[in-house]
Formats: sequence, structure tokens, C-alpha cells
Amino acid sequence: MPIAGEWFTPTELSFNSIKARPETTWVHFSLSDGNGTTGQGEITDTQLDQSIAPIVARLANNLRGQKITSDSDVITINNLNVEQIETDIALATAVSGLRCAIADTLAQVLQLPLVDYLRELYDHDGKADRKVQLYSNINRALKPTFDGPSDRSPDGFAEMAQRAMEAGFTTAKCAPFDECQGPFSSTGLPREAEIGLDRIRAAKEVIGPDRTLLVDCHSRFDLDSALALEPELRAAGVGWFEEPVDPINDTADFRLIRDKAEMTMAGAEKGYGVGLFTKLMEDDVLDVVMPDVKFCGGPVEAYLIGRELEARWEGSVSMHCPSGPLSLLASAHATAAFGNKIPLEHAVYEADWRQEVLEPFEEIKDGYQTLPDGYGLGGRIDPVAVAMRGKQWTE
Ligand SMILES: [Mg+2]
Repeated sequence: MPIAGEWFTPTELSFNSIKARPETTWVHFSLSDGNGTTGQGEITDTQLDQSIAPIVARLANNLRGQKITSDSDVITINNLNVEQIETDIALATAVSGLRCAIADTLAQVLQLPLVDYLRELYDHDGKADRKVQLYSNINRALKPTFDGPSDRSPDGFAEMAQRAMEAGFTTAKCAPFDECQGPFSSTGLPREAEIGLDRIRAAKEVIGPDRTLLVDCHSRFDLDSALALEPELRAAGVGWFEEPVDPINDTADFRLIRDKAEMTMAGAEKGYGVGLFTKLMEDDVLDVVMPDVKFCGGPVEAYLIGRELEARWEGSVSMHCPSGPLSLLASAHATAAFGNKIPLEHAVYEADWRQEVLEPFEEIKDGYQTLPDGYGLGGRIDPVAVAMRGKQWTE
């Protein structure tokens, strides 16, 4: 590694959160050396019952005063192993957040944008693109926001898809099967799936044949119902079939679905580490893996996953990011560094002031995010946004 030898010594840790909509609170932390260098990570835990901040505080405490030279020092110094992290998503979230914050600081110390730091770290030739293509996940905008109640009707889905297309996105994603949760009372296509299919058809109607609609199923189905649903999704012109069941915990069923399905099968948003994602591809479980920077090990691990898998299976990695602007920024650096073939996820329209949360503002236009010029992540959570819309604390 040509850029080894620099270090960062954390001494201070503080947390902040910003309420984006009634059901979404973005949670972040800053790790500082007390000397002007600060790294940040996002630890938003919408799908968990447990707060991640105390785990971050416990792990970070052991880094205090140490010369940190690599983001993976958080694992070695805390005597963690990959199996432990893979099987504990709260721990994976804390580790991923700390690895993000450390990579952010080390890139700053080396005076490199994170995207260039990632490539120099692993001798990746050439220069990365500064613009990253995004796809619009419209799902959260269809739930209650501070601007209004949810509209889960087919027309509501169509309107939101229209808004995304008018903003320049060429791909939208939705999760339309609210009424479904296996096991189901009958075999074949569950009756509860009909309204979800109506939402899909309405959205696809405005998206049109030349642009793409992806469908996420949030593990609401089982083997039988997923096999019955696949031809329906295909007939509706859907671009991929995401997580009818959980590919990490129900691997055998997922592999059977993928084996029979003609559609592209995507998933594994809760996975940690390049080893797990590689195995899912080698075992023919998935066509597209979806590492999430908040769970997968942070931007360095996300880069490694993208580089390793894209070299072996082109078009197999699309980062999962239904999160806040800090995670999207970290994901965009990783995605740009490995040279993505599929767009990166962006949860659109959760809050119309979202861009102001970052300093400098998050820059998304015509379906592309532009990376800022600064070192490290190049953007940080603006304390003014925290003062206006959230809170700050220490553990
Ligand atoms: Mg998903």
C-alpha cells in the first residue's frame, strides 16, 4: 500500500440526529482528534430495535489515544471477528459507521477525496468518475412525511414515479406489497398481492417501456408465493425482483427462486463483508448483491465488494442506500471508486430540505450525484441543521 504510514488518533466522540419524517431519524456521529480532523459515520437504525450509539461509544473507547492507520483497526483493536459481525447487525452497523469515520479522517490526513483514497489504497489504476448515477427509491416518499400523509393508492405510486422521472431519474424502485406477509392461506399467488400489482402497473404506466421500475418485496413472501409472483412481475415489465425472501437467512429458498426465475434477483442489503457477498454469488443465490454502507463494513469494504464482484460478474453490485445524505455520500464515493455498472439507490423526497443537511449541500441533479471537491467524504453534517431539526449528545 503506497499510502500507508499516516495515522489518526481519536480523542473525542459526539452523536447527532435529525428527524427527516415521522418514521425516519438519521443518526450520525463525529470522531475527532481534538486537533481539527473529524470523521463522520451514519448509524441510522430504522430497522432495528436497538440503539447503535452505545455500541459505537464502547468500540470507540478502545481506539482513544491509539495511532489508527486503517479503518479495519476498529476490528483488530476490539478483538472482533468477521463471524461475530456477520451475525449481529447492530454490531455490524456500529463497526461500519466507525470504519466510515476512520476512512474519512485518513483520507483527509492524506489530502485525498475518499474516492481517490480508496483507489490508491488498493493500487486501482485510472481516475474515477466524479458523477455517480442514482436510482430513485420512491417508497419512503409514499409514507407519511412532515408535508403530508401517505398515499398508498396506485395513483399515489404513479404520481411519485412521475415526479422522479421529471427530475431526471431513469429508474425508480417501490415496495408495493404492504398487505402481504407469509405464510398465506392458499397456494399460488396470494390474493393480498393484487393491490400491490395494481400499484406496480400504475407506476410502470408513467415510467414507460424505456425506463426501469424495480420492485422490493421486503421478505414478505415464501418460496411458493414468490414463484407465483415472478411471472406477474415479469408481465408487468418490472426490472428486478428484490428480496421475496431474505437471501441471507433463507438462502436455500432464495436459490430455488433464482433458479426458476427468469427475472434478475437482487438482495442481501443486511450482509457484512466481502466474504459473504462473494459466497452468495459463487453459490448462485443472487444476480445482484446490494451492500449497504451502513451494514456491509463501510466505504472501504463496499469498494472491495464492488471491485471483487464486478471483476468476476459484471453488473452484479448495486449499493443499497435508503438512508440519509451522509450514507449516500459515502456510498457514492465507494460506487465511483469501484466503477459501478448499476446505479446507486437514493431514497427521494423524504424531506424537501434534505440537501441542506450537508455542508456543502448534497448535489443531485438529473439523476446523478456529483462528489464534492473536499478531502475525505468532502461533506459533513451541518451543525446548523442539527440545531434546527435534531439534537446532539455524547455517550
Ligand atoms: Mg430492500
